[in-house]
Amino acid sequence: MNHGLFDAGLLVVGAGPAGVPAAVMASSLRMTTIVVEAVAVGSKVAAIGALENVPGRWTTGAALADALASDLARHQAAGRVTVLTGRAVQVAGHDGRAEAALDDGQVLTAGAVVVATGAATLSVEDAAWIEAPVDLMTPPLWRTAPEQLADRHVVVLGSDRPLGTWLWAHPDTATHLDVLYPAGDAYKTDEVSDEARGRLDLVERVAVAAIPGDRFRITAYHPAGGSHTFTTDQVLSNMGSKPAALDGLVVAADGYCPPELQHPRVLVAGDLKGARLIAVTMGDGSRSGLLPYFEAQTLPTGQAGRPVGSQIARHNLTISDLALTVRAVPICPIRHEATG
Ligand SMILES: Cc1cc2nc3c(=O)[nH]c(=O)nc-3n(C[C@H](O)[C@H](O)[C@H](O)COP(=O)(O)OP(=O)(O)OC[C@H]3O[C@@H](n4cnc5c(N)ncnc54)[C@H](O)[C@@H]3O)c2cc1C
Repeated sequence: MNHGLFDAGLLVVGAGPAGVPAAVMASSLRMTTIVVEAVAVGSKVAAIGALENVPGRWTTGAALADALASDLARHQAAGRVTVLTGRAVQVAGHDGRAEAALDDGQVLTAGAVVVATGAATLSVEDAAWIEAPVDLMTPPLWRTAPEQLADRHVVVLGSDRPLGTWLWAHPDTATHLDVLYPAGDAYKTDEVSDEARGRLDLVERVAVAAIPGDRFRITAYHPAGGSHTFTTDQVLSNMGSKPAALDGLVVAADGYCPPELQHPRVLVAGDLKGARLIAVTMGDGSRSGLLPYFEAQTLPTGQAGRPVGSQIARHNLTISDLALTVRAVPICPIRHEATG
């Protein structure tokens, strides 16, 4: 392992609507910041066709993703943010530092790490109600363009919310979606129940097999008994997502990572802790970028050594650890109103 190749005030893992605000906030406070992103800045939101609920006049996810990338670029140009392309596999908090290990063996160190890796799309192997070979490829509906589906019979597995978003984002597509969904997804079907371009079919379980000619054979088993078998050109997954937790995080029974259970130098933000909406994750990310600085600012050096807050006390760490970290990077004074 290459230890300490990069040292920073703050490490941010994941450059989505939570991670970018964390980095921008830290950089604006003159903390040297390293962002590690596995795919691309805003890679998830870039694929959202229509946005209605994000302040700032964003009507598409692609426009928002561009804005996030240009925000990071501005802070990179100022020399305070470094963006690395890489996949983090593990994070850890220690007495004097936080670390993130990447899949190429590098270990990055900083005063604190914000983990904002969001949620990963569920695949057929995650769904107990689907029987399918492990190597079966079922691309997610929400990342599929209508042009890829033209003149094809399409089956969608699961009725998660992207179903409605996808249909409304592509009002002109004539593609018809045959949606097979389990009882647990039933509450998500209301918003598309009057949509003429989809047929909703409640199933108990589904068996999917690839057949010659790049086609698929599907057997749908119904809750009242009985089944029907048919073939289709394309199978897309739409089963929702699961938190993209990294090794080293404390994960709750529901798969999310509650902030209060983590090491005090390991902060989680955004969908990883269950935020689930862009505007919420943005605020949450900003807060996590502010926290280490805020902690140091509100506690005079004279109080260093006094345990602060239940999580710091529980881990037997003191604010002096955090304050030392933040003092180690150049800090410019901030006005009270800037910190809320
Ligand atoms: C189809 C769809 C439609 C949606 N529509 C809306 C909507 O209209 N309005 C709304 O408010 N919300 C919507 N959402 C939810 C919204 O996208 C999320 O709430 C938001 O993107 C969460 O932001 P985040 O930064 O927490 O995570 P993400 O946006 O998932 O960002 C996480 C980032 O971390 C990176 N990453 C993951 N693992 C690693 C790793 N190990 N190492 C390095 N980088 C990693 C990923 O590549 C990604 O760039 C929608 C979601 C979907 C799927």
